Amino acid sequence: MFKRISVLSEEVANQIAAGEVVERPASIVKELVENAVDAGAGDIRVEIEKGGCRSIRVSDNGSGIEREDVALVFERHATSKIARIDDIYDAGSFGFRGEAMASIASVTRVELLTRRPEDLAGTRALVEAGTISEITPAGLPPGTQITVTELFANVPARRKFLKTEATEQSACLDAVTRLALAHPEIRFSVRADGRSVFAAPAAAGVADRVAMILGKDFTDHHLTIAEYKENIELRGFVSTPAWTKSNSKSVYLFVNSRFIRDNSMMHALLAAYRQVIEPRRFPAAALFLRLPGEEVDINVHPAKLEVRFKNSRGVYDLVSGAVSRALAGAQASRDAVAYRLAPREKASVSPGFWRSSPYRTSSDKPQDVFSRQNLRQAIGGDLFARAGEQDVPSHVEDASCEERITFGHRIYLGQFAGTYLVFGSPGGLMLLDQHAAHERILLERLKASEKEQAASQPLLMPEVVTLTPAQMSLLSEALPLLAGIGLELEIFGRDAVVVKAMPVALPNVEPRRLVSDLVDQLSDGQATPSFTERKEKILASLACRAAIKANAELSAGDVAALCRDLEKTPFNATCPHGRPICVKFTLYEIERLFKRK
Ligand code: ADP
Ligand code: MG
Repeated sequence: MFKRISVLSEEVANQIAAGEVVERPASIVKELVENAVDAGAGDIRVEIEKGGCRSIRVSDNGSGIEREDVALVFERHATSKIARIDDIYDAGSFGFRGEAMASIASVTRVELLTRRPEDLAGTRALVEAGTISEITPAGLPPGTQITVTELFANVPARRKFLKTEATEQSACLDAVTRLALAHPEIRFSVRADGRSVFAAPAAAGVADRVAMILGKDFTDHHLTIAEYKENIELRGFVSTPAWTKSNSKSVYLFVNSRFIRDNSMMHALLAAYRQVIEPRRFPAAALFLRLPGEEVDINVHPAKLEVRFKNSRGVYDLVSGAVSRALAGAQASRDAVAYRLAPREKASVSPGFWRSSPYRTSSDKPQDVFSRQNLRQAIGGDLFARAGEQDVPSHVEDASCEERITFGHRIYLGQFAGTYLVFGSPGGLMLLDQHAAHERILLERLKASEKEQAASQPLLMPEVVTLTPAQMSLLSEALPLLAGIGLELEIFGRDAVVVKAMPVALPNVEPRRLVSDLVDQLSDGQATPSFTERKEKILASLACRAAIKANAELSAGDVAALCRDLEKTPFNATCPHGRPICVKFTLYEIERLFKRK
């Protein structure tokens, strides 16, 4: 059964190591661009073909490599960046393990062209499946150009894990975006299949670079963070509660200029937002933490995506405290303005919601279980009148009371907690979640419209939405599906899309918000290989965005229309996320609670 132990050949060892570092084209892009940053380049150009699956080229104008050292580049544990283990704590460089190039070369074909500015001639090297086949002098401009082809040709299993070209391209762009955010002084550009898809000219500082990359919506809705505590510094930008995202992918965290994923920092950030944004919504943020090298261990993850803080409590408190204070400051100044402009207006519901509501009829007003109108109905108008409330009855309200709203055989009693519609019948009570119900109605409408040749409503003023390059490449893949349901989008340059028409099935939603959430959903859906499943998720995200929110008061007309629509909708027991739409209590259950049974 057992075989004898033997030491793996270097080739196999490198291929195994490559599994950790070189997962997909984007990981190669990340390692090559990091090396270019480490080489002091001021201009880094990336070219990819077929999402990076066919070829990746990174050119820089950095320090170059001496010919004598070229062979060492592809050796494992060969690095120019550290010499002693302690060096990693104050290494200002991205690399220091000396294994990226060896790993990449073990699973691809690499051509290296390099020349130091001080040398007269440069060097060309060719490495195939980990073995150097050629090192020759070559006339070159200063800097380094590395071209990677035949990706994973010798590890077919890995090729099978690659996703669509659009997905791989978007991951490559994510990798460049993260590095570009942390290095505003460097010019970055990416061409994909010959087309320019990303261009960030050298910027004066982080603020300019963040604006360039995260787009206009973020710059229009941001708060600035700058706080210090002991030896930790936190700077950056977070979105105001008015601009939220449907996932956490627009949160960029950096530690000493290195992009990282850190649950604790993420948690601290979200904790600060908990009270001010809806559940299941996320902020956008670019936060840069700076602390002395000995305070953080960056050598705990093969691709250095995770770190360990010595004082993790301090980091948590700084992040959540600084963001909370920024949010509180913004809230205070907004409240002051709101008070001056409209002292009586309720902050929770925007007046515009009512004006444009699909369920709004001209004569009705928001209705709550505990509204005067309902109380009057419940305890009788006489009592109210006697209590000196003569001003309450009006013709309009009386008219709306005449016709009772029903769902099936149940009678609508009112809205509870701004979210649940309460219905009663002789058999018991039912609570209906207004958001979940509307979401299901819209989803089924979208699905039907997809089959039938969807109706779309052209926008009088086409709206331009800016997106990141990574989002752009995902969106272009989904354009035909979206056109099929009546959402007409047109790519506009490298980083914007024009919304030309909206689906008739989705009234009452801002095109900008709809598209922004949609691209969040597209990047979430990357892991789902089946097209039907991805499509279902896209439609569900559109429905979710367009649906009436929880915590919105509904008028009688709104409720009546919702009930009529829901009665006609298939699958009306659960919302698209699988949560129940309604919960029922039988009379028997209620009587048991009162110990009558
Ligand atoms: P590490 O970055 O951890 O040192 P790598 O395997 O990524 O290891 O690279 C090995 C060495 O090759 C680097 O230490 C550096 O000296 C050299 N090198 C790689 N890419 C470049 C580049 N673009 N410009 C200059 N030197 C480079
Ligand atoms: Mg490196």
